[in-house]
Amino acid sequence: MIEEEKCSFCGRSGKDVGQMITAPDDSNICKNCIEICSGLYEEDIPKESAELNIPDINIMPPKKIKEELDKYVIGQEHAKKVLSVAVHNHYKRLKNQKRIITDKNFKGVELDKSNVLLLGPTGSGKTLLAQTLARVLDVPFCICDATTVTEAGYVGEDVENIILNLVRAADYDLERAQIGIIFVDEIDKIASRTENVSITRDVSGEGVQQALLKILEGTVANIPPKGGRKHPDQEYIHIDTKNIMFICGGAFVGLDKVVQRRVGKQVLGFKRFIEEENTKVLDEDELKRDALLKTEPEDLIKFGLIPEFVGRIPISTALEKLTKSDLIKILTEPKNAITLQYQTLLGMEDVELKFEKEAIESIAEKAVEKGTGARGLRSIIEEVMLQVMFDVPSEKNVKECIITAETINGKEPKLIKKTKKKASKK
Ligand code: ADP
Repeated sequence: MIEEEKCSFCGRSGKDVGQMITAPDDSNICKNCIEICSGLYEEDIPKESAELNIPDINIMPPKKIKEELDKYVIGQEHAKKVLSVAVHNHYKRLKNQKRIITDKNFKGVELDKSNVLLLGPTGSGKTLLAQTLARVLDVPFCICDATTVTEAGYVGEDVENIILNLVRAADYDLERAQIGIIFVDEIDKIASRTENVSITRDVSGEGVQQALLKILEGTVANIPPKGGRKHPDQEYIHIDTKNIMFICGGAFVGLDKVVQRRVGKQVLGFKRFIEEENTKVLDEDELKRDALLKTEPEDLIKFGLIPEFVGRIPISTALEKLTKSDLIKILTEPKNAITLQYQTLLGMEDVELKFEKEAIESIAEKAVEKGTGARGLRSIIEEVMLQVMFDVPSEKNVKECIITAETINGKEPKLIKKTKKKASKK
């Protein structure tokens, strides 16, 4: 009986190939063909990713992480704390993966990934925080814009390009890429439109959320190493996204209203008194942030994010709108403060660049007027400094260049010449 049967795939008889598996429609498959078929599928399954080797990560305690953030990011104390703890826990979880499985005390406990949502106005430091964290921890980092991700149907295309960017940031070291940080900006713009929330986007962003959800929750992404479209003959890089930390950011205009409605606090006009040790009057911006700090998953769902997506970003915090005094600090205090950068550049020409206090204040005021947070600072100062940076290097005898408040408003900076002084001393 068996002798007469043939493998429906290779055509060889049962006499040659031994026992076969018969399907209900009487077709057969032999052992050889089964092996070939399973071999084909194995190629698609990245074995390495299952046994991920976690590269050495420098896990600093949250306090130390915050101290490092303090060097670059002004204010945003709460956000810094939340991020420091989230990042510390994330990498602690990774480093102890084996221990969690083998140690009796931990067995059975599943630690969730601590993806973070940063709510806050533009130019308040969301990207800077994520970027600085990655730098402090020395892990690969990339930024992506949620609005550029294509919707379902083409899932994968752009989402994979995001991961490819991370792989590039890791210099094609796949193990390091798999523990990197991805900052997803403008996440609020992919919320689907809901009642009473004014967002300009009127197409549903649900497909995009689904596409991002995949990488957020952990998938093995097959990435064409050169980016672009996939084609069958290409070799893919396999990246497991389950250990990648995602920090999502967005301004979430209108979310404060959703929260306030839920909390049931009627906000009338500009001010409200809240009871603290010292009764404090909150202005409109503070009220908004106060509400955003109380954000619950249900508010984000009402805003238009799908529940599965919200579920994958369990931690959220709200950033403050930067005030004039914050902006002044931003101009002068961080390690890479923009005024220090100009001073260093002119220092290389042996010119001492001084910014008068009033000049710094004037720049900060202009930035407040612009309403784009610290983002405005750079463009204002760049406009002023362009002429200085253009002229000074050709003027060999300048000793000092003083930027005054008038300079910020279009006047020339004060230049103090070297040679004349020297000459008069002699
Ligand atoms: P957001 O992502 O919130 O829109 P960014 O982080 O991109 O804002 O900020 C834009 C730029 O403004 C940064 O590159 C940085 O130079 C500056 N900046 C913003 N917020 C801060 C801050 N809190 N401390 C220091 N610099 C800041």
